[in-house]
Amino acid sequence: MNNKNSDLGFSTRAIHHGYNPQEHQGALIPPIYLTSTFTFATVQYGAGCFAGEEPGYFYTRIGNPTLALLEARMAALENGEAAVAFGSGMGAIAATFWTLLRPGDEVIVSRTLYGCTFALLHHGLAEFGVKVRHVDLADLGNLRAAIGPATRMIYCESPANPTMQLVDIAAVAEIARQHPKITFAVDNTYCTPYLQRPLELGADLVVHSATKYLSGHGDITAGIVVTRQALAERIRLQGLKDLTGAVLSPQDAFLLMRGIKTLALRMDRHCANAQAIAQFLQDHPAVAWVAYPGLASFAQHALAKQQMKLPGGMIAFELKDGLDSGRRFMNALGLFSRAVSLGDAESLAQHPASMTHSTYTPEERAEHGIAEGLVRLSVGLEDLADLLADIAQALDASAEPVATRPLLEAVGKARP
Ligand SMILES: *Cc1c(COP(=O)(O)O)cnc(C)c1O
Repeated sequence: MNNKNSDLGFSTRAIHHGYNPQEHQGALIPPIYLTSTFTFATVQYGAGCFAGEEPGYFYTRIGNPTLALLEARMAALENGEAAVAFGSGMGAIAATFWTLLRPGDEVIVSRTLYGCTFALLHHGLAEFGVKVRHVDLADLGNLRAAIGPATRMIYCESPANPTMQLVDIAAVAEIARQHPKITFAVDNTYCTPYLQRPLELGADLVVHSATKYLSGHGDITAGIVVTRQALAERIRLQGLKDLTGAVLSPQDAFLLMRGIKTLALRMDRHCANAQAIAQFLQDHPAVAWVAYPGLASFAQHALAKQQMKLPGGMIAFELKDGLDSGRRFMNALGLFSRAVSLGDAESLAQHPASMTHSTYTPEERAEHGIAEGLVRLSVGLEDLADLLADIAQALDASAEPVATRPLLEAVGKARP
């Protein structure tokens, strides 16, 4: 296998792209280059590396063969020119913002964002003179009106965390294309390139928290940027090398590549389980509403079908009795773990108002569409019947007042 295999199928690329065992003593599995620095045969060669005139590696924060293989593979899967790996999703996002934005610039972001991205923008970049504007990107007229001479970036998640609202990526890309100074970036963490490829829809840049589905096993943190070659190099040499230093460990790059091999298989199972659970929740009398792109009742169901291969493994819903019943539901779960993060083999449940979006004020939560009783599920790879049984008993328990359920009983149910 070599690098010219972009016409091969998704899983074939996920397993083989960019690696030839014959170049590595026949090793079927790529070696891990656990080294921080690289030696130079001569000072002249070293000088050439630093000047960018020689292709060699010299220090792992700037480049490492294990990271380079992961980057080539991710670029191939997203159908982009180049990728840069990071030690976390926030490392990738911060490096992208710091590379592209300067004091006085404006960034347009969708209404709801991952909590730490929101915090980075409002408590980080804003203090350095970058103006942040939240715009409901479902209304393209809003977007056109919000773009001004200082706008340098449009940034969104689709589906958004945790509301599940979608952005019409092709439509936003078309507007962004009319403004050469604007970079349109999409956080593709919820979908992975198996379900959605924003670059093919016209976006300029994709970021990932590879901690989630791409790794798929909950044992590392990692981030990825995929974009055009020249921009990727800027993000590597400014955002990664100088501004954040958020380099990925080669050991973790190896684990991430191991996860990516089974991405398609895992995503198919996540999606099938989630579709069935979303339908079950929708039919349950205790549930006020369910947001899942695969339901016909989902407001943007048609858009989901248009830009996503399958509806994903994430579900948001609200219980009719709001905050308290949401808490009772959460505490009654036995197989689902109460945890942030997503995309693992293990099913996870979280309550944004008290967990991921606690960095928002209650007013900000309301403004950004996060109901106090909203529960978010990351549906795992367990057997569907077991997951449905757990949800059903937790929904029953959610109707009981807290006082009738002793704390110890709830704690005793915490693990199967
Ligand atoms: C988790 C997450 C991030 C941040 O990634 P880390 O790997 O935790 O730093 C960014 N965006 C979304 C949508 C996420 O779910």
